[in-house]
Amino acid sequence: MDIKTIISSIDEIAEKQEELYKYLHSHPELSFEETETAKLMAEKLTEFGYEVQHIGGGVAGILKNGEGPVVLFRADMDAVPIKETTGLPYASKVEVMVNGIKAPVMHACGHDMHMATGIGAAWAMANNKDGWSGTYIALFQPAEETGSGSQAMIDDGLTDKIPKPDIALSQHVLATPKAGSVGICAGPFLSTAASMRITVYGKGAHGSMPHMSVDTLLLAASIVMRLQGVVAREIDPFDFAVLTVGSLQAGIAANSIPEEATLLLNLRAYKDEVREKLVEGIKRIVKGECEASGSPKEPEFEIFNKFPPTINDAEETAKVEKAFRNFFGDEKVITYKPMTASEDFSNIPNAFGIPYVYWGFGAFEEGQPVLPNHNPGFAPSLKPALATGTQAAILAVMAYLGKVV
Ligand code: ZN
Ligand code: ZN
Repeated sequence: MDIKTIISSIDEIAEKQEELYKYLHSHPELSFEETETAKLMAEKLTEFGYEVQHIGGGVAGILKNGEGPVVLFRADMDAVPIKETTGLPYASKVEVMVNGIKAPVMHACGHDMHMATGIGAAWAMANNKDGWSGTYIALFQPAEETGSGSQAMIDDGLTDKIPKPDIALSQHVLATPKAGSVGICAGPFLSTAASMRITVYGKGAHGSMPHMSVDTLLLAASIVMRLQGVVAREIDPFDFAVLTVGSLQAGIAANSIPEEATLLLNLRAYKDEVREKLVEGIKRIVKGECEASGSPKEPEFEIFNKFPPTINDAEETAKVEKAFRNFFGDEKVITYKPMTASEDFSNIPNAFGIPYVYWGFGAFEEGQPVLPNHNPGFAPSLKPALATGTQAAILAVMAYLGKVV
């Protein structure tokens, strides 16, 4: 049995896979709310003959098939709070309450596509056992969007509950390359990221009596200006770093000086030490500006939505890339440049101390509007994106588990 036979076997389930995708798309669930989604993934894996475990809000299906390497393939399950504008017959109409506010929910990042391709690959592995040997682990992770789902599975004992993999693999549907193609990058691929909430304090007063106040708005504005110097003047020009102030909130009235201000920051880097340097610089500047303003209380810092960098192992990436090139042809395999986006997948291989490979596959066909992930109109072309994602998953997994026949 060769790889082409295994890959063409998915034609048998293509229709069901599309139905599953559409169902998932119209039933999205937010990060750590993926109860029904996880149940459905577990049901499918059980039906295919996998040993299934629920771990930290996610699902792991184990398929043992004799001697050989252990390969883990991961898909993420969460949707995002965005109101869908695709107008598709299977568009999401779901709304949920978040902190007392009604929020729309949509699979705008394509994690529904990851699940449908993950289930397709899981089916193919279960139905072509003659073609491979070893152990296959199909893993479905919660809460990628908040950067905390992979850690939740690890905190719930993932490394003790499943066999230690030799390699971990994962993929994302992206605006580039074109549907039908894949993209891959050895070494640093996705950046590390973190968000930061900073609260600074002043002294409230009537707008007519600024001398009686410690003005938090002036303080916060000085911080925003001064923070621009961190990347420009403190980070090595050959290191990648982004520092964005995405929100500044203080006061509601024209004639009142508010007592506190809150800033929300987003940080990106390829190296953990660069991210740490950003955080140090920010804290130093904020504390210094508070001191300069005569702030009556120490500022508060909270770091959240922390993502690790994604750094593909060069040797293993070459192995997966070769499998892609042999099957898709050189014109359908592009070499990505590093991206500024982030992922929490690498926490899983890092927890096991194993290498990993993460790649992208295309969402849109020629002539279709190319929209980025998280756009309310994000609607990948199902044919051929579903097939390509499934093929890529099988090819990568079989590069480790396949028997040479
Ligand atoms: Zn996303
Ligand atoms: Zn995503």
